[in-house]
Amino acid sequence: MTLDQARKRHAELVREIRMHDHAYYVEARPKISDREYDRLFQELLDLERQFPELVTPDSPSQRVGGQPLEGFRRIRHRVPMLSLEKVRPADHPTRAEEPDDALRKQRQDQNTLNELRSWDLNLRKQLRLDRLEYVMEPKVDGVSISVHYEKGRFVLGVTRGDGTTGDDITANLRTIRSIPLALQIQDPPAHLEVRGEAYMALKDFEALNRQLESAGEEPFPNARNATAGTLKLLDPRLVAQRPLRAVFYGIGHCEGIEFRTHAEVLQSLRRFGLPTQPEWWLCRDMDHLLEIYRREVVADYREEKDLRARLPYEIDGVVIKVNDMTLWPRIPAKARAPGYAIVHKPIHWIEPAETVLKAITVQVGRTGVLTPVAELEPVFVQGSTISRATLHNEDEIRRKDIRIGDTVVIRKAGMVIPEVVEVVKSKRPAGTRPFDLFEHVGGRCPACGGPIAREPVSTGEGQEVAWRCQNVAGCPAQKVRRLEFFTQRKALDIEGIGGIVAEKLIESGLVDEPLDLFELKTEDLARLNLGTEEAPRVFGEKNARKVREALERARTLPLGRWLFALGIPNVGEVTAHDIASFHEDLESVARSPLLQGVVRLEELAREAEAVNPHSRKNPPRTEAERRRRTEQYEALRQEAERIGRELIEAGFARPAARSGEGGFPACVTKVGPVAARSVLEFFASPAGKRVLQRLKTLKIHPRGARTAVSGGPLAGKTLVLTGTLSSWTREEASELIRQAGGHVAGSVSKNTDYVVAGESPGSKLDKARALGVPVLDEAAFRKLLVEAGVLKDSAQTTGQRYGGGSAQPELF
Ligand code: AMP
Ligand code: ZN
Repeated sequence: MTLDQARKRHAELVREIRMHDHAYYVEARPKISDREYDRLFQELLDLERQFPELVTPDSPSQRVGGQPLEGFRRIRHRVPMLSLEKVRPADHPTRAEEPDDALRKQRQDQNTLNELRSWDLNLRKQLRLDRLEYVMEPKVDGVSISVHYEKGRFVLGVTRGDGTTGDDITANLRTIRSIPLALQIQDPPAHLEVRGEAYMALKDFEALNRQLESAGEEPFPNARNATAGTLKLLDPRLVAQRPLRAVFYGIGHCEGIEFRTHAEVLQSLRRFGLPTQPEWWLCRDMDHLLEIYRREVVADYREEKDLRARLPYEIDGVVIKVNDMTLWPRIPAKARAPGYAIVHKPIHWIEPAETVLKAITVQVGRTGVLTPVAELEPVFVQGSTISRATLHNEDEIRRKDIRIGDTVVIRKAGMVIPEVVEVVKSKRPAGTRPFDLFEHVGGRCPACGGPIAREPVSTGEGQEVAWRCQNVAGCPAQKVRRLEFFTQRKALDIEGIGGIVAEKLIESGLVDEPLDLFELKTEDLARLNLGTEEAPRVFGEKNARKVREALERARTLPLGRWLFALGIPNVGEVTAHDIASFHEDLESVARSPLLQGVVRLEELAREAEAVNPHSRKNPPRTEAERRRRTEQYEALRQEAERIGRELIEAGFARPAARSGEGGFPACVTKVGPVAARSVLEFFASPAGKRVLQRLKTLKIHPRGARTAVSGGPLAGKTLVLTGTLSSWTREEASELIRQAGGHVAGSVSKNTDYVVAGESPGSKLDKARALGVPVLDEAAFRKLLVEAGVLKDSAQTTGQRYGGGSAQPELF
């Protein structure tokens, strides 16, 4: 594709994605499927990876996350972010006293509702009013955020923190697509701070956990926890991969705009294009509120219709606010909470449920890890019927002493994947035995009957010991999971090969490993029976054709996607793309000197530690030993330094910023030693060699985002262009930089290596000076290009311009 074609397509994609974002997140009326949306977005990303000069600050891709941060800046809230007062939960009778479930809940709730009445009465007395209007809205169980718009532009995002000061999480919040980067107001106010919650929708959270689990990582205990953890990540690129959303319910500091009532705030925010809650109620008075509460919130205490079942996110109560904001300053605040609002939590929303653990089944993941799952007597907990719960791992079962036949307490308060909280020991039947996973599965993998072993596995949080099926190549469960991983959206995006289809493909023997897909006959796929022998249900002609098309598309996806799809241990999406951007193809990854350098550096550090003459743990005992160790240490250090320099020169590492960072010697590599080793080991293994061989046979050659040029003054460097150059257009200059192995970025940061300044440069030059980034004028830039070998020599090319954007610059 030429740059001109790329630019046109890019503009189209940007327009479409913006339109779909609004339709999806704000209108909640999507116009295309998630799958189609993802395809558009991936196309945009792939395009920008190939043509970095197309990246503008307000491209939707900028939501995909910028450079990692060192830490969060602290921001003082101009208007404190307070807590909310809760209605005191009243004592409630035990369940035995009231056989009718709905009636019992109503009784329990009644006491707290009476508290609401007296709250209203008190307020009216203080304000000397007969009647007070209220707004009642769901209390979102997410993580509080504050977002600032200046002249309608998103400029700052902050956490609640301690209420007075929070963390600047702007880079992370920018990745949330439901937060508009620009407000839809004709004449935007000078300043508008909106407040709301970041959250993960229940189905997104479940999918995230499934994905973490299939990647062999630890799932999050609940959506709130996953949200909070994600917002605290220092790498916005990781944040961008998590399905965060936001909803807004209030305002903070404002200039140039005023609101009279809370209802007006909610309506205005929505009009400005900000997502607000789908349900909230303006109530004439407290009686009216309680009537709505009974009908809409708790649905007369029949859980199926309860408000929680209607919302896509978790809520843990309702917030009741005085509607007239002009009254707010007249209502005295509590210590950490305003006086004009109160939270009510229906008592049965916080109640855990009890049920019987009928059995424990064991699932086999992609990497063979065995995960125990509780099979429960079905029980209705907070909006849905639960019949399974995760037990995490064997250690967790031991710690809680969970046994088959036990009565267990299940909780979902804030948890989507229900958890077994504890065992009701008093209800334990006679004859139960402590759970032993090895014994439970008869010492064999429940999927393939193969041997199992207890070994360390890496999870999101580090290492953990788990039982694992050893039959990597033959276990059908592992094959199915690998196939699902390979075809998932972020990998090769082959729609239709998931769940039952993957299972049947493996079971029928049509597919044994993911690459078999490319040799699968469309007729065979169409005939695949997804049902049983008695009740057959075939995959079908049309679906098979769609898969075929997706496979065709997959053949030309960039290297990063392929590297990720292979499911190499410890290689997540970000790592895969990082590696891809420094390599030409899979072969060059397989024998990458960069990755070898990273691995060698770690070995050297270990060896050096062992002979360190200044070691406190193991000091030299004799003078001779000290001398010998000093020599050895010095030799190792020199080798490490040489490798470090090479990696830094190639742009694959940077010098450590602080002492102690990066270890021995002080350099921080783009990809860590665990991932680097894992990649090299994979391609050296028979399985990895087979993959390379087969791709060759299949004529699939995934390409790196650019051709890596090793060595040269611009290799691996990040450059920013500003002003007009006399010899080249921006595009031509960018192309030359790419040919020299460098990157072109759109804005200056401390990760910028050079700023190239032409005639009448813009603010980027000031920024470069402020950050101490070296600035090149045209002559200096030309000199580097010549040194890099992409330009002949200055005399010959002076004044000579390349043709249109699509023409190749003059290269050797
Ligand atoms: P708490 O932290 O439990 O005292 O509750 C106060 C927090 O509830 C606020 O800081 C908000 O972040 C959050 N919250 C959730 N939903 C709402 C809502 N609809 N209105 C106001 N605050 C809300
Ligand atoms: Zn197995």
